[in-house]
Amino acid sequence: MTRQRAVILEIIRSDMCHHTAEEIYELSKLRLPKISLATVYNNLRALEEEQIIRRLACDGTTARYDSSYIPHGHLYCTACGNISDFSIPDFNRILGEHADCMVDSYELSLRGICKNCRKKEIEAV
Ligand SMILES: [Zn+2]
Ligand SMILES: [Zn+2]
Repeated sequence: MTRQRAVILEIIRSDMCHHTAEEIYELSKLRLPKISLATVYNNLRALEEEQIIRRLACDGTTARYDSSYIPHGHLYCTACGNISDFSIPDFNRILGEHADCMVDSYELSLRGICKNCRKKEIEAV
């Protein structure tokens, strides 16, 4: 693995923020000042092909990157734009039963109001 790729992967893994490519680019520049956006995109594509990271399109427009390849769902908060992870125990098996297949992966994105924003709403009343 090249140093560039290692740095990019570290950024994606360092928090669970589901960064966009531009955010990853900005963060990697702090450590690799000469890196270009094209290099970041190439490395993201390679990591995705190797199934090390996963690309998401939670808000329907911007691709975001997830450090976990383990299937899990995402909640996209329409109030603050935050993306959080959730998992449903046994969901692969349940889906498989309904779809009559062996499930390898799934994509589940929900849109709604996250816990923090709901709390703020209640407090504002
Ligand atoms: Zn929110
Ligand atoms: Zn995630």
